[in-house]
Amino acid sequence: MDLQQIKRQLVIYSGLNALRRRSRTRPRVLFWHGVDVPADALICPEVFPVSLFKKQINYLRRHFDIISIREFHERLDGGTFRGNEVLLTFDDGYANNLHVVEPILSSMGLPFTVFISTDNISTGDFYPTSVNRMVTIASGLKELSIPTLGQVFPLTTDDDRISVSKQISREMKSRPLNEVKGIVKDLLANLPADEWNRLKEQYSCLQPMNWDQVRQLSRQGNVTIGSHCMWHICCHEHQDDEVVREQILSSKQLIESHLQQPCDYFAYPNGNYTDHSNGCVNEAYRLGFSAETKTSVDKSHRCILPRIAAYSADMSLFKLLVSS
Ligand SMILES: [Zn+2]
Repeated sequence: MDLQQIKRQLVIYSGLNALRRRSRTRPRVLFWHGVDVPADALICPEVFPVSLFKKQINYLRRHFDIISIREFHERLDGGTFRGNEVLLTFDDGYANNLHVVEPILSSMGLPFTVFISTDNISTGDFYPTSVNRMVTIASGLKELSIPTLGQVFPLTTDDDRISVSKQISREMKSRPLNEVKGIVKDLLANLPADEWNRLKEQYSCLQPMNWDQVRQLSRQGNVTIGSHCMWHICCHEHQDDEVVREQILSSKQLIESHLQQPCDYFAYPNGNYTDHSNGCVNEAYRLGFSAETKTSVDKSHRCILPRIAAYSADMSLFKLLVSS
């Protein structure tokens, strides 16, 4: 390392430390999805490797105060945040949240919150973007017919498969719910008999929990179950207002009826929200969370509290993420 490189490293190091010192004045909310040994990073980007997750948690334990969502809520209302609090959250409701995350965090006495999409819990259906990647990239199909989009996509090369999967994912995140349901149905209709069952087995790390498993998870003293809509709908401006309202309100009722306890917390799928959806969240929940960092943690943003995606495989980047 020459002198210039050493100087550069020192500037970066002191800059990072200054950033860390300065930023320890506000709490942060982290989110993951699944945590497991991923079957394939390309098909299962939502599944964070368990070995890295343990490293992240060990770092957070040493440097931050990991609190429950109830404690977070009380400190938000009371204006009593000390600034080093971290809230751990998990989206969608993967079975590995029970089999992998819960044993790790409970053995350390750490609280966490899981936001579930209730339709997937009731039916066992995989989440829409998982279905897309499994069918488009992993099935070996040579072409893909999606009548809802009026298109037949060639899947001749690996590049084709990846680019088509990205295109369909973008469509799923921007279209109204009935069309997204149509796209999922179209995707599955391309598969020969039994291929879907084979794919589900191969990518079981993407399997949602069922209600028995959600109940089992919620009985652990440190776990809170929140809502993530019914059908993992993205609450953007192209959705019908009544549909959004039902997705936000009925998922709460369903969770409360299955768990026999209040469901006070909500997280937006994909982080999308509108004034209308925020009105519904405010009406039904005590706190709501987005998937963006631009808002601040204060009472004026109580239905779109910011969260940080904790997806960095690089520990230096992760440390920077949670400190920035
Ligand atoms: Zn989600």
